Amino acid sequence: MRLGSAASALALLLAACGAGNGSAHQEEAVHEAHAPEAGHGETAASGHGVSLGPAEAHGATAARQTASHQGAAHWAYNNQRAWAGVSGLCGRGQEQSPINLSSAAPMAEVPDLTPRYLPIDGGFVNNGHTLQFNPAQSAATLAIGHDNYAFAQFHFHAPAEHMLDHRAYPAELHFVHRNEAGQLAVVGVFIEEGAPNSALAALLSHAPREHGDEFAEHLSVNLMALLPPDRTYFAYAGSLTTPPCSEGVRWNVLRTPITASPEQIAALREALGSSSRHTQPVNARTVLLGS
Ligand SMILES: [Zn+2]
Repeated sequence: MRLGSAASALALLLAACGAGNGSAHQEEAVHEAHAPEAGHGETAASGHGVSLGPAEAHGATAARQTASHQGAAHWAYNNQRAWAGVSGLCGRGQEQSPINLSSAAPMAEVPDLTPRYLPIDGGFVNNGHTLQFNPAQSAATLAIGHDNYAFAQFHFHAPAEHMLDHRAYPAELHFVHRNEAGQLAVVGVFIEEGAPNSALAALLSHAPREHGDEFAEHLSVNLMALLPPDRTYFAYAGSLTTPPCSEGVRWNVLRTPITASPEQIAALREALGSSSRHTQPVNARTVLLGS
């Protein structure tokens, strides 16, 4: 699937929140049968009247997704070979994510990565797949060179999905953005053990324990505290890391991790469960490293 319409972008966002387990995805299947706008009312982050939170995952786009992938909602991280039966791209796509990244990659010219993230209010949701923050307003943007994207949501994976020199960090944050053409850009941030992270502390203290769309904590998050100061990043063309594994996602994985205390990481892992896709072949793609 190629991006190019709001609908397809939403289809991508549907899966961009991916994480969780078999039962969680059964839950998703149930929700997908619900009527559009059946979510808990996060408002559009993009100004397009399009809901970018879990609401969209269980709304109109989900219905569309279900229509094109009948019976496709059942998948689990402990049986990733079966994903190809959910969406063919997961098995035969040539530009899949995540991948292993090499710190020995030569430095290259890449566009400046400029997050403009003010502290932002939103809902922190345990949607049964992951812990996800959905902004209440469209105050945050990301510029990649001259290309502008609106911040849509962030969520976690544990352990990290991308590997760096074949090493997996304990967790990875994905900041999902969308431009006016409906194309997605994701900023990946590794989390390693070290000093506690204040923003993560606030998030974890409000982490909803119960799964399900109906439960969201409202809080304000300082997004910049979830980014390392060094913006050197790996740039490559990839995909969603969950079925339907749609390609055309602009990946920007920061080389430098942020830190979290061992207790914070343990809390994250406990809340998330196993939520990482295996690394995929790079194939003919070029991965650039720069800042
Ligand atoms: Zn993700």
